[in-house]
Amino acid sequence: MIYIYSKVSREKQFFGHTNPIALTEKFGSPLFVYSENILRSRCRDMKQLIDYPNFTVNYSPKANSNLELLKIVRSEGLKVDAMSPGEIYVNLLAGYNPEDIFFISNNISDDEFQYALHAGVKISVDSVAQLEKYGKLNPGGKVAFRLNPGVGAGHHDKVKTAGQKTKFGVEMGQVPLVKEIIEKYNLRLTGINQHIGSLFMSGETYLQSTYNILSVAKQFEDLEFIDLGGGFGIPYQKQSGQSRLDLTELGSKLTEVVTTWVEEYGKAIEFKIEPGRYIVAESCILLGTVNAVKTNYQLKYIGTDLGFNVLVRPTMYDSHHDVEIYRESGIPSTRDEAVRIVGNICETGDIIAKDRLMPEIFENDILGVLDSGAYGYSMSSNYNNRLRPAEVLIDPQGNPQLIRRRDTLEDLVRNYIL
Ligand SMILES: *Cc1c(COP(=O)(O)O)cnc(C)c1O
Repeated sequence: MIYIYSKVSREKQFFGHTNPIALTEKFGSPLFVYSENILRSRCRDMKQLIDYPNFTVNYSPKANSNLELLKIVRSEGLKVDAMSPGEIYVNLLAGYNPEDIFFISNNISDDEFQYALHAGVKISVDSVAQLEKYGKLNPGGKVAFRLNPGVGAGHHDKVKTAGQKTKFGVEMGQVPLVKEIIEKYNLRLTGINQHIGSLFMSGETYLQSTYNILSVAKQFEDLEFIDLGGGFGIPYQKQSGQSRLDLTELGSKLTEVVTTWVEEYGKAIEFKIEPGRYIVAESCILLGTVNAVKTNYQLKYIGTDLGFNVLVRPTMYDSHHDVEIYRESGIPSTRDEAVRIVGNICETGDIIAKDRLMPEIFENDILGVLDSGAYGYSMSSNYNNRLRPAEVLIDPQGNPQLIRRRDTLEDLVRNYIL
């Protein structure tokens, strides 16, 4: 095999003893391929962020909830969030203790509250109305609430999850109402959490929102934890040298803020963060196959099996993913050209990379979409009755292990009453 355009994966020795072409031959295409080494190293980065004895990292599994990956994250000593009863269920299957699961609920039903209470997980509510619902169901119980500190951050309006135009959290002005309901139902407010949005590459907004949550938190005496949220970004433009989020700088500022606050509060309560993307995004390369190349009215299209049912981020958020090329034949690419890399779904928006300058791509080339581990498989679907891909893990010895099989045609009709 000759590698045509694969600097990032080569430098990381991402594929261990195997290679992308052998992997697609063995496990089929498209294929999500994960590196256990990278996953573990990202867990360790986050665990070192704040230098404070009672600091914990909650992985946010909506980014990727593959059971095998959850087990690896757990083995690194991370706790876990849940956004739904389904995530609670899967986290428990991965071996997490209920008390290490933090359910950050949003607009849930009585039944969903009951499920979470029965499971014994920590619960956060997202509005005064939901706090009241919780109070009726579990008077005297422990509860946390999600604060909307009024500032947000993120790479797209759809993923800013705090600020004045989002559905999330209790606004600062309604904190007195929270106190009223806490008293009315004799609840214990044991935690406050926030999550301002996804994919920030500079820590300023995160730091600002930390000041905000801490100023609110000191009004409550019973706190056991404060959760500062996730959203830590990763460089999606590695091929053009994008630099990483400076975790050392952000970490040392957070350490200072947290330590000072704890001294004033007088109790060394737990501080949590809840990264999703940062933990898993870079641990995955999504492989696909070029099935057709054509030019339509002057635009060159690279037609692949990477539809937006497999990776929806470019279609949904206009996200950039770097793309690598792997080729078996000895034919080199002799020039760069602007191409549009598209999938096989029946929609015009089915585009993986728009008008990207790439070395010449040929039919049967294998493409690698970098940084596909977060919001990749977890947002994939059976749209167009397409099968969701298999997932493979490259273990620390460099060998591939199948960690989820590809959907079958029978899977598509499993829930019908025939
Ligand atoms: C999605 C989400 C996260 C994780 O966000 P990332 O950007 O993937 O780090 C954390 N907390 C909450 C409440 C979320 O909804």
